Amino acid sequence: MTHQRQTLRSLDDLIASGAVDAAQGHALKPVVERFQVAVTPAMLGLMARDESGSVAQGDALAAQFLPDPREAMVAAEELADPIGDEAHRPLPGLIHRYEDRVLLQPTHVCAVYCRFCFRRETVGPENGTLSDAQLQAIYAYIAARPQIFEVILSGGDPLVLSARRLRAIVAAIAAIDHVKVIRLHTRVPAVDPARITPELVQALKWRGATYIVLHVNHAQELAPAALSASAMLVDAGIPMLAQSVLLKGINDDATTLETLFRTLIANRIKPYYLHHGDLAQGTGHFRTSIAEGQSLMRNLRGRLTGIAQPAYVLDIPGGHGKVPIGPTYVHDCAHGLEIEDPDGARHSYPPKPQG
Ligand code: SF4
Repeated sequence: MTHQRQTLRSLDDLIASGAVDAAQGHALKPVVERFQVAVTPAMLGLMARDESGSVAQGDALAAQFLPDPREAMVAAEELADPIGDEAHRPLPGLIHRYEDRVLLQPTHVCAVYCRFCFRRETVGPENGTLSDAQLQAIYAYIAARPQIFEVILSGGDPLVLSARRLRAIVAAIAAIDHVKVIRLHTRVPAVDPARITPELVQALKWRGATYIVLHVNHAQELAPAALSASAMLVDAGIPMLAQSVLLKGINDDATTLETLFRTLIANRIKPYYLHHGDLAQGTGHFRTSIAEGQSLMRNLRGRLTGIAQPAYVLDIPGGHGKVPIGPTYVHDCAHGLEIEDPDGARHSYPPKPQG
């Protein structure tokens, strides 16, 4: 196998690289016609191979980025817009779901396309990048609403943009006095770490705080190049958080999550959210039950340092927002409350202040 230099973007690319068996091509055709495909050289290079040189079955990266025939199976409860973005879209490229923050989508392009993406119906080059006029309309919207404290750049993946474009966006937001925080949601530091250059890091600096939230689901994604790219950002004074998706067969066991979260905090990246899988179309094979997710979180509570514990959250279908979904350690009982400890034992607690 030769070292792959280009991002794989088609079924032919995937077959030529050995990532996909030619015999699977027929079954995958409807999937790749419907949903985007992109696998960066960095991710392809980290996928385990079998003796024949083909990508190994069950590899945690292959399962996240290589198309699967099961994506053609859409369950009745699955939705084209699973978290209800469109119910909160005042302008193209802008989602305003919560009062104090907006989500700005400067591009719909991503460096990789995750097979479980909650925006899989809208990501990709055909929905493109916002025009200057569309961006100006968004800046005017934010400027007219003093309650907007934070602007989240998401997408797509904002870090596929050039340093020049990012600098212009950050400068325009910085000119709006009441915005104090810019947050970027990205996979780039892990999946395409060469994009994190000193020029790009500099483009993200402004008078306020910049936070980067890295989407990462398995420690296998955190190769030395990814950790160096993240260290460049943190060393520049940009705090990093991580968000992960709970994915069946990839990270739905306590040991895998523990390794991921420990690797993150050892590298100054705070686990922030563990998302329950959204009801995106063709993604049923990735979803666990909420009870399984709660059981994993309960398992991690006792054995993993508190700073490595993310909140387990669900975006309620229909656009009703994101909430923590447990587990709860507080139980009602006949004489008041019982609080459960990390080992499962319950201890009574007075229901209200005494005296
Ligand atoms: S990087 Fe994010 S937006 Fe892009 S495909 Fe993956 S989950 Fe979707």
